[in-house]
Amino acid sequence: ASGYTLLRDPHHNKGLAFTEKERDAHYLRGLLPPAVVSQDLQIKKFMHNLRQYQLPLQRYMAMMDLQERNERLFYKLLIDNVVELLPVVYTPTVGEACQKYGSIFRQPQGLYVSLRDKGKVLEVLRNWPHRNIQVICVTDGERILGLGDLGAQGMGIPVGKLALYSALGGVRPSACLPITIDVGTNNEKLLNDEFYIGLRQKRATGEEYDELIEEFMTAVKQLYGEKVLIQFEDFANHNAFDLLTKYSKSHLVFNDDIQGTASVVLAGLLAALKVVGGTLAEHTYLFLGAGEAGTGIAELIALQMSKQTKAPIEECRKKVWLVDSKGLIVSSRKDSLQSFKKPWAHEHEPVKTLFDAVQSIKPTVLIGTSGVGRAFTQEIVEAMASFNERPVIFSLSNPTSCSECTAEQAYTWTQGRVVFASGSPFDPVEYDGKTFVPGQANNAYIFPGLGLGLVMSGAVRVHEDMLLAASEALADQANEENFSKGSIFPPFTTVRKISARIAAAVAAKAYELGLATRLPPPRDLVEYAESGMYTPVYRNYR
Ligand code: NAP
Ligand code: MN
Repeated sequence: ASGYTLLRDPHHNKGLAFTEKERDAHYLRGLLPPAVVSQDLQIKKFMHNLRQYQLPLQRYMAMMDLQERNERLFYKLLIDNVVELLPVVYTPTVGEACQKYGSIFRQPQGLYVSLRDKGKVLEVLRNWPHRNIQVICVTDGERILGLGDLGAQGMGIPVGKLALYSALGGVRPSACLPITIDVGTNNEKLLNDEFYIGLRQKRATGEEYDELIEEFMTAVKQLYGEKVLIQFEDFANHNAFDLLTKYSKSHLVFNDDIQGTASVVLAGLLAALKVVGGTLAEHTYLFLGAGEAGTGIAELIALQMSKQTKAPIEECRKKVWLVDSKGLIVSSRKDSLQSFKKPWAHEHEPVKTLFDAVQSIKPTVLIGTSGVGRAFTQEIVEAMASFNERPVIFSLSNPTSCSECTAEQAYTWTQGRVVFASGSPFDPVEYDGKTFVPGQANNAYIFPGLGLGLVMSGAVRVHEDMLLAASEALADQANEENFSKGSIFPPFTTVRKISARIAAAVAAKAYELGLATRLPPPRDLVEYAESGMYTPVYRNYR
């Protein structure tokens, strides 16, 4: 192979970091200027350049360019600067990137499977250059973040998610495959956009949709086997629950919007209970928003409660109430409810507003998963503070403008008594001479470690007990020092260490449940997880 080719191969390129010996051995002399620099100096230079950009989208594009040019530098940069760069390669910036994906599109970063490929999906998969795939992240682009239907331009999401699988969870980049299924889009703006990259047609639904998904799922299993993890991402809720239920019986599938969210929020709750006292069953929960996030979290709370109390899950669900756009979910609405809401239709008279629901239910825990900014009004938060010494309030909707209340509002309206967490990051808040550092319930705490645990144990199915194990492992990482500052989550800077713990807990469950195929089990799972993680330091080429 020529040196020229080597410089253009992102898996091997080191740029100016090629040593004198490597330059001799690989025909690189003259193709590089004389300077030989360290990876750390390359990082320093790149971060310096990145910070010059005014627009978040420019930073995103610079990061994507780097990923296509020098993969190890990209991942080292991301790991070493995770708090600063996560919002660049993932939410919120990735959202804007998806909206403009057609005009910034340069290189395909994943596979596109469209209606036109019907009958040929296996061939499409075979065109991908790598065969040892361990994690697939797939979207159909219908509900990208909170931005709605972005069609084929949703590709930014699986690309970003998988970058985090590698950076935070240590799954090898070449073992990750981003896929976008294109069945059309109902987004008129995109259909009329000359730069749109997807099929120009309305979304296929019903049988046509189901058949393409079925062919895809079958082809994936045929080509990569039983142990490939398929993460469904940003499907609209009218498909998300059904796909998860259907394929969890035959494939290793995971939905981050439902299950990842549930696991990270349950972890937050378990940690919050260490601060406010009481068991899960001794609390009462009220949600604003009964979609993928809300009902996903609700179900995992009920499940954990049922494990702890040995009470049937149907009983435990009665401690959890949800409000959707039509008001409190109650039994008289049962006939008209989507199936994923039915388990939450408890006996109660109809209630229209969140405020009335708070007054009537008197929850100890209030969780926002509605996407409705500032829906937790002063009177609602004050009501929570009036019947709870330490109210627990999570306002999870993203982005920041959609958060049900701000951190400052939560602390101020409860005189600093709230245990608060949010979906989007908030700056520390000063109240009454005390500084609170609110925790962020970021899914990126959970899914990379969960994925690593599944991959390293060779798991063939995701079991809900694995989600509980992941929650407990994360909750265990939050300590008194974090609590005293107001955060129920450990600092995100330690996320790789956290991922290894979560992976070990998930793998242990997989072995316990007989769902692991990598035998015999490693003796020390934490050590095994840590030592197996991808680390992007440069290799020496002889
Ligand atoms: P989704 O499936 O579309 O669900 C949204 C829910 O909110 C639906 O039940 C909807 O009611 C309800 N809703 C909408 N407007 C409302 C209103 N005015 N009053 C009461 N309820 C209303 O969306 P999702 O995937 O669950 O996501 C919801 C939010 O959670 C998003 O903002 C997302 O950013 C956030 N989230 C945060 C995290 C995290 O913090 N880690 C993770 C995932 C999601 P109907 O059912 O009646 O339409
Ligand atoms: Mn998502």
